Amino acid sequence: MANFYRDNEDMKFHLEHPLMKKIVALKERNFEDKDKYDYAPLDFEDAMDSYDRTLEIVGEICGDIIGPNAEGVDQEGPTVVNDRVIYAKGTAENHEALTKAGLIGMSLPREYDGLNFPIVPYVMAAELVSRADGGFANIWGLQDCAETIHEFASKEQKAEYLPRFAKGATAAMDLTEPDAGSDLQAVQLKATYNKEEDQWYLNGVKRFITNGDGDVSLVLARSEEGTTDGRGLSMFIYDKKHMAVKVRRIEHKMGIIGSPTCELVFTNAPAELVGSRKMGLIKYVMSLMNGARLGVGAQSVGIAEAAYREGLAYAKERRQFGKAIIEFPAVYEMLTNMEAKLNASRSVLYETSRFVDVYKSYFHISHDRSLDKEERMDMKKYQKLADVFTPLLKLFASEFCNEIAYDSLQVHAGSGYMKDYPIERLVRDARITNIYEGTTQLQVVAAVRGVTTGAYLNQIKEYEASDLNPQYEYLRTTLKGMTAKYEEAVAKVNEINATADHNDFLDFHARRLVEMAGYIIMGYLLLTDTTRNDKYHSSCEVFIKMGKAKVASYLEYIMSSELKDLGIFKK
Ligand SMILES: Cc1cc2nc3c(=O)[nH]c(=O)nc-3n(C[C@H](O)[C@H](O)[C@H](O)COP(=O)(O)OP(=O)(O)OC[C@H]3O[C@@H](n4cnc5c(N)ncnc54)[C@H](O)[C@@H]3O)c2cc1C
Repeated sequence: MANFYRDNEDMKFHLEHPLMKKIVALKERNFEDKDKYDYAPLDFEDAMDSYDRTLEIVGEICGDIIGPNAEGVDQEGPTVVNDRVIYAKGTAENHEALTKAGLIGMSLPREYDGLNFPIVPYVMAAELVSRADGGFANIWGLQDCAETIHEFASKEQKAEYLPRFAKGATAAMDLTEPDAGSDLQAVQLKATYNKEEDQWYLNGVKRFITNGDGDVSLVLARSEEGTTDGRGLSMFIYDKKHMAVKVRRIEHKMGIIGSPTCELVFTNAPAELVGSRKMGLIKYVMSLMNGARLGVGAQSVGIAEAAYREGLAYAKERRQFGKAIIEFPAVYEMLTNMEAKLNASRSVLYETSRFVDVYKSYFHISHDRSLDKEERMDMKKYQKLADVFTPLLKLFASEFCNEIAYDSLQVHAGSGYMKDYPIERLVRDARITNIYEGTTQLQVVAAVRGVTTGAYLNQIKEYEASDLNPQYEYLRTTLKGMTAKYEEAVAKVNEINATADHNDFLDFHARRLVEMAGYIIMGYLLLTDTTRNDKYHSSCEVFIKMGKAKVASYLEYIMSSELKDLGIFKK
């Protein structure tokens, strides 16, 4: 009778953040649904209560079904029979349990049989599912595709596809091809329009597609003949009922075994255009990927939570030299650092989710009525924050997830290297998080805009000026010192970069600059958490110590670096 929501008070702490009042008000629009649907909330407290109760159900399914199934799914994996994917037995059971409980399509409006949940509780559910089974989290999390259909598809398409999610439809996001990985502008899958039939057809190959045999797929394809870049790409919906896409094979992977990664062959597959032609990559896929990056952030935190718990439990139980190994400074330091990174990741995950919630709610409201000037400015502010926080979150949460899983295995030592403990699977599952939905290097490419436009610095200054517990003023002083170092590093990189006719110097130091900003931002987030609840004090102190040392070392590296030094690194 495990409950992954109830046994983790950090979830409720983040759910009860003060900004939720604004988010719920925007999402529920004066609670206008209460007269139409008997399950719609009456007021703020009622809405929060419904999130809490729903997450309790998610927590129970995770603890009782998905978690216990994880080992079996990892051993069995999915198979391909007659060009179709067959899930492992446990995967099918997990999916059925979540569908029966009405937990697919959570963020969709009630008119499409969704729960109209904000992103925050939806992401919390994703974190819980990921803690139970990181691989299964992909199959469940691809309901993100429904959110993209809701945002950009026509009224008729929404009416056709969205209600299917609540009935358990699964989805896929078909972007990658053999020659188009990080560089999606190179996508070649061909979309051809047949004028007489008023019908689009897709032909070509996609690879590495998670749940590629899903019921509803969003496909990025080249609709404009003779083009070679992103402006020739459009987005399409493909419905599995046409049976015109074959699963050629599924990959033999290192981790997330239960999640089928498919190679797909499209042969005259009928498809529907979403939104406008040529906007596929520039607008729709960008939005889809931002949602999916938030999902991988949640997946990373969920896997990290599981890994941390395994490490802690083992360290308490295992005895060497006459005492529990948790009593050795080398071991408790590892565990404390893991906990600090986990809490920092979770804080930036829910901060980003709140930013997305505010701007997306305005976005949907703007389809029904025009926003006033103040609302437009508010939407813009939160959209900009969401844009720079999403890659920062994905980068840190996935890298920390890997570090936490690695260190947890180290705490287990020899036993962790065996298949006898879950940590071996968790390390393998963690490894994908900093690769898909854009590698860490590609997150840096997106996040560095937050450095060059000053967006991170502006937000850091906002945190710096906020009400923080006066007892911990010394931590604010430390963070101010780190900020001064960050500004010094940015100035030096900008100065040298301006002397060249290329951006190599900026690109070379981009990860260091983004990480410096990230350590300061997460330091402030943990300090804010500590102001709300002193339980986070130790993580806050430890994380800021860690961040201070990182920021100092990065500054030293940057200050001693010149443009000509890049030559040493070139291969
Ligand atoms: C298990 C799994 C599931 C997946 N699921 C899906 C899915 O559902 N849908 C989908 O469409 N795709 C999916 N993918 C594809 C995934 O998104 C890509 O693998 C990923 O984006 C990286 O592309 P690539 O593997 O071709 O690497 P490459 O693009 O070849 O990158 C190789 C290396 O070069 C670096 N690099 C490349 N370009 C740059 C640059 N501009 N600046 C700095 N460094 C750079 C990368 O960081 C990396 O280190 C999945 C992949 C895996 C492994």
